[in-house]
Amino acid sequence: MQRITRDHTNCLFSRELAPVATVESGEELVFETWDAAGGRLKTEADALSLFLKPEQANPASGPVFVRGAQTGDTLAVDILSIKLAPRGHSRIKPGAGVIISELKPPVARLIPIDNGEAIFSPTIRFPVRPMVGVIGVAPAGEAVASYYPGPHGGNMDINDVAAGARLHLPVAVAGALLAIGDVHASMGDGELTGGGIDIPAEVTVRVEVLKGWQRPRPWLETPDLWVTIGNAPALADAIRQATSDMATLLAEKLAISREEAFILIGARGDARPGQCAELGMDATARVAFPRLR
Ligand code: CA
Repeated sequence: MQRITRDHTNCLFSRELAPVATVESGEELVFETWDAAGGRLKTEADALSLFLKPEQANPASGPVFVRGAQTGDTLAVDILSIKLAPRGHSRIKPGAGVIISELKPPVARLIPIDNGEAIFSPTIRFPVRPMVGVIGVAPAGEAVASYYPGPHGGNMDINDVAAGARLHLPVAVAGALLAIGDVHASMGDGELTGGGIDIPAEVTVRVEVLKGWQRPRPWLETPDLWVTIGNAPALADAIRQATSDMATLLAEKLAISREEAFILIGARGDARPGQCAELGMDATARVAFPRLR
């Protein structure tokens, strides 16, 4: 199995980047990923003093050229497993997070991961919930920093992008140029501080090219759910976009009208923020609906 190592990272999704590996459709591979700070925070003192510019954050490992992927196709990425490093970090920092003006940042914690639990303190521990924050393909036009989400994927911070999910990304350039980074051992919906437990990881995926079929934005399936994903400057508009995509998806999957689909969304569609931390990037949101077939 090919392994994309941590010395092959970029903070851009760009058609101009040279691929670091080539894989076939159907192949499994491993992405070694840095945390959102690129591994620069080795101590709590680092986490209190090192603040990155947006263009330095969220390094993504890759990009990987998927043979046969062409503009107009979809790249399906099955997240097979997420293996966490032994320790992550969490922090609050000046100017970041929805209640930061009430608080006295910076405050940081290194957080060991032990037997599937995050150890916040000797008395406070909780189960991890590993997920991938940054995953995407190269956009058709200008490069996009991996700090931002968009129709190419990128920094979506959607908790459903976890082991067992099959994420669909619209291919915009030959080979797709897939890259992955910014794993969290755990991240609350909304990522309200601007971070979760940021941690290096090894993400094992299988890629498959779905020829001649594409939706305009990323969406995913889990064993139980269909999930659509929106992004927009305002959270309400990100939810609206994910809702519109879900109406289209349900209409197609269930052979009903979009009006009927919207009734179903009202009855069982669950909207949640992905990231809405007001960090100068778009908010993201998802709408989930139970898989019916
Ligand atoms: Ca993120």
